[in-house]
Amino acid sequence: INYEGQPHVAERAPWDGGYVWSKTESGQPWIATAVQGEGCDLIWPCLDHPTFEPQQTDIRIRVPKGLVAASNGQLIETTEGDDWSEYHWRSEQSQNNYGIALNIGPYDKLETTYHSRYGHEYPLVFYYLRGEKEKAQKLFAEFPKQLEFYERVIGPYPFYAEKMGVVQTPHLGMEHQTINAYGQDYKPGKYDFDWLLQHELAHEWFGNQVTNTDWDHMWLHEGFGTYMQPLYGQYLHGDALYHTMMYDQRIGIRNEHPIVSNKPMSEDDVYKADRGPGSDIYQKGAWVLHTLRYLIGDEAFFNATQQLVYGTDDPKPGNFKPHFADTQDFIDAVNAETGKDMTWFFEHYIYQAALPELVSERDGDQLTLHFKSAAKAPFTMPVEIRVGGELRTVVVSKEAKTITLPSNDVHIVLDPESKILRQQDYLDEYSAFEAK
Ligand SMILES: [Zn+2]
Repeated sequence: INYEGQPHVAERAPWDGGYVWSKTESGQPWIATAVQGEGCDLIWPCLDHPTFEPQQTDIRIRVPKGLVAASNGQLIETTEGDDWSEYHWRSEQSQNNYGIALNIGPYDKLETTYHSRYGHEYPLVFYYLRGEKEKAQKLFAEFPKQLEFYERVIGPYPFYAEKMGVVQTPHLGMEHQTINAYGQDYKPGKYDFDWLLQHELAHEWFGNQVTNTDWDHMWLHEGFGTYMQPLYGQYLHGDALYHTMMYDQRIGIRNEHPIVSNKPMSEDDVYKADRGPGSDIYQKGAWVLHTLRYLIGDEAFFNATQQLVYGTDDPKPGNFKPHFADTQDFIDAVNAETGKDMTWFFEHYIYQAALPELVSERDGDQLTLHFKSAAKAPFTMPVEIRVGGELRTVVVSKEAKTITLPSNDVHIVLDPESKILRQQDYLDEYSAFEAK
């Protein structure tokens, strides 16, 4: 098949994508592609649907001498002409069609070998703009640290047979398999790490190793991908970072459309806020996982997550391949790990837009609690209550329950560690103000 044309120019990559024609500060060409929204057919003939993944790609890019082309998989060969260089990249692992990307610029390369806790090793590569070595080295030093977190907490890096690769791009970022786009200028990380690098790396597990069967289930990529930042903050420095990041994410949850509608959706249907969940697949997705983790505990939560990612809860290099999954697969994994039917939880948080509300009434030393929710399914959640200096846990459902407090005067705080995603007026009011 011959396929040719005038490359579509990206208006606002990565959101309105295509080819990004940029220049470095010194005036050299700096080119990238990002086609998650518009689809792979902007570059090559393809079936533009998440389940269409090419099993092998061979990409040959010829560039003027002095420029470097970075792409997916392994560099097979470089050929030099009088005034050009040609780069031949090959990937032999199935890839999201929008994850196939070319990146061209005056790049230098940092490279090292990573020794995985699973006993094997693989290359880490960073293509950065020539002249920014010091900054690049600082970011590069984060690669092994972030990998160690993911391999410890989630499981083996899926594409160890090729590389863990990152390339500096003129646009913010994108989860391009084995050649993640990074474009936020080495901004210092408020939480001791580069969130963008860490977020795009999450997608090698959530998005590239496990791919949703339809855009409708995009929260499996972005909700998990977003939850990995607070989780990494907690891993590095403990609960304060975790809760601060979770709070940052809580502001802006909109609850206007369910996260999953259980019907085929286009990328636009999901991302355009008038039609679908929009940014809720990120922050609300992360909060759903936060609440689920509290409810079922770390062991069941991380085992179910491994099941989602690898299709097995004992992933080892060699016993898994990239695969597809949807929300029901994750619910099945949660049910299998907990030995309970947890469908009700997802009915309230994933298939229903409005959040459950914890309604409380205080009359002297009597405290009455129940959950109010638009979804029909039952809802039963252990609620922590700080009563004076003491922490109590009360199981609360849709039926009103009254407990007796030690005195009329004792101060109480419901859910003092914000473990439960629930409707709260002050958060809605502030979110509305921020959205203006
Ligand atoms: Zn993402």
